[in-house]
Amino acid sequence: MAATVTAPPLREFPGAPQPLVPGAMAASKPYVANEKMQHALGFPAELPADWQRIALAKMRELLGKYRSLKVYLDACVHCGACTDKCQYFIGSGDPLNMPVARQDLLRSVYRRHFTLAGRLFPRLVGARELTKELLDQWYGYYNQCSECRRCSVYCPYGIDTAEITMAGKEIMDAVGLGQKYTNEIIGKVHRIGNNLGLPGPALADTLAGLEEDVKEDTGVDVRFPLDEKGAEVLLVTPSADFFAEPHVESLIGYAKVFHAAGIRWTLSTHASEAGNFGLFIGSYEQLRTIALRIREAALDLGVRRIVVGECGHAWRVAYSFWNTLAGIGDGADDPFARQLQGQLDQRYRQPMHVCEVTHDLIQRGALAFDKEANDHRVVTFHDSCNVARASRMGDSPGGQFEIPRAVIRAVANHYVEMRDGTTREQTFCCGGGGGLLTDELLDLRVKGALPRMEALREVADAHGVNFLATICAICKAQFTKVLPYYGFTMGMVGGVHQLVGTAIRLGAKP
Ligand code: SF4
Ligand code: SF4
Repeated sequence: MAATVTAPPLREFPGAPQPLVPGAMAASKPYVANEKMQHALGFPAELPADWQRIALAKMRELLGKYRSLKVYLDACVHCGACTDKCQYFIGSGDPLNMPVARQDLLRSVYRRHFTLAGRLFPRLVGARELTKELLDQWYGYYNQCSECRRCSVYCPYGIDTAEITMAGKEIMDAVGLGQKYTNEIIGKVHRIGNNLGLPGPALADTLAGLEEDVKEDTGVDVRFPLDEKGAEVLLVTPSADFFAEPHVESLIGYAKVFHAAGIRWTLSTHASEAGNFGLFIGSYEQLRTIALRIREAALDLGVRRIVVGECGHAWRVAYSFWNTLAGIGDGADDPFARQLQGQLDQRYRQPMHVCEVTHDLIQRGALAFDKEANDHRVVTFHDSCNVARASRMGDSPGGQFEIPRAVIRAVANHYVEMRDGTTREQTFCCGGGGGLLTDELLDLRVKGALPRMEALREVADAHGVNFLATICAICKAQFTKVLPYYGFTMGMVGGVHQLVGTAIRLGAKP
C-alpha cells in the first residue's frame, strides 16, 4: 500500500521545531523481512516463544562486546541538548524522534535488567520490561533513525544515538524482526555481488554502453574496464553508479579523470558494490563478510591501490573499518591481509576516496578543465553524514569538508555555501540514510529532509543555486525523490564528479 506522504511547510529558516505531536509517526514502519531474507543472513524468521530471553541475551552480549554502548546507556543526564537536533523530530514533531527519547526505548530495558537501581526501583529510574508493545516501538522508531550522528555533535557527553539504534536493530534481527529493505539487499550482495542484484554480464554490457556514450559525446575512447588483472587501481563504487541518474554521471566523471591522468584502473564483478548495509543493521559479521569481497577482488586482480567512489556510508566503512575487517590499511593480521599489504603500493596502503584522487591530481597540475562548461550551474554542497561525522580525507583535519569543496571550486565558477549550522560537522541528514531509503518510509523521508530543504531554499532564493552536489549515492537517490515535494526539480541533485566530468578536458595538456 502506498504511504500517504505529507511534506511539512518550509519555515522561515532557522525556525522552531514543529509543534509536539505525540504519536505522529507511530504508524511509520518499514516492511518486515520475510523468512527467506532472514534465513539468508542466519537470522530467525519470526518471534520465537522465548524471544524476550533471546533479546536480553543479545543485549548482554552487545554490552560485553561494545564498551561504548554501556557508557552511552549509563551516561545520559537528560540535559535536553539533543532534543531538537534530529531532522526526523524537526520534520515530524513526534517526541519519540527526539534522540534522547529514541535512546530511552532501549535504555529503559537496559536499566531494568542490567542495573541494580532498575532491578530494585524500576519506576524511580524509568526502567521497563521488554514487552511486545515496546518491541513494536523499537521497530518503528529505530527505523526512523538514519544513524546520522548529528545529535552526538551536540551532546556534552558525546552519546552516539546511532550506536544505540544499531544495537536495537541487531537485537531485533536476533529475534526475527529484521527489516526487509536492508536484509534483502544484503542477501543480494552475498548472492550476486551488489545491492541492485546486477549480474556480471549485465554489468559488462552496461559499461560497454557507457564507453559508446562517452565516445559519442566527446570523440574520445574513455574506457570503463571490468575485471582487468594488473590494473593499478580497483575502483569500488555504489552499484547505483552503473546506471541510475544522476549517479552514472559521476561514474563517467571518475572514468574521465583516470583517462586524463593515464591511470590504469578497473571495476570488479566480484566487488561490484561499495555499499555495506551491514553497518546499518549493526552486524559486525555482515560488515566483515561484505568487506571481504573487496579484499578478495583486490588480491585476485593484483591491484596496487583501492579507491572508493561517491558513497557516504561505504567511505565510512572503508575509512574506519576496512583495516580491521579486511586488512585493507593497517590493522588485520591474517595471511590474506598480509598478502594484500605486501601487494598494495606502499604510498597507498589505505583506501582512498575518489575525491582525494582527483584533488591530488588537480594539486599536481595533472588535469585541465574548462570551468565555463559548468557556468549554467550555481552549485552548493551537501555534506553527507557518514563522510562528515565519521571519516576524514587527506592529511589534515577537516579534509572531508575541504577536499570535495576544493574539487568543486576547481571545476565550477559559481559556488555558494548553505547556512552555517547546516553544513560540515553539523550537516543535516538527507533523510534517507541508515537503511531508510525505501518507499514505504517515504513520508518519514520527506519529513526528515525538511531542514536540508529549508537551507537549500534559502540559497536558491538568494543566489539562484540550481545544483545540489553531494558525494553519497543514498543522498542522491533520496534528494531525487524528495526535492519535488519542496518545489525543486529532481534534476538539480548530482555528484561532485558529475561536475568534474562536465568540465574536464580530455587529452589536453594542462
Ligand atoms: S537520525 Fe541522526 S540525529 Fe536523529 S536520532 Fe538518529 S543519529 Fe540522532
Ligand atoms: S544531549 Fe546527551 S546527555 Fe543530554 S539528553 Fe541528549 S543524549 Fe542525554
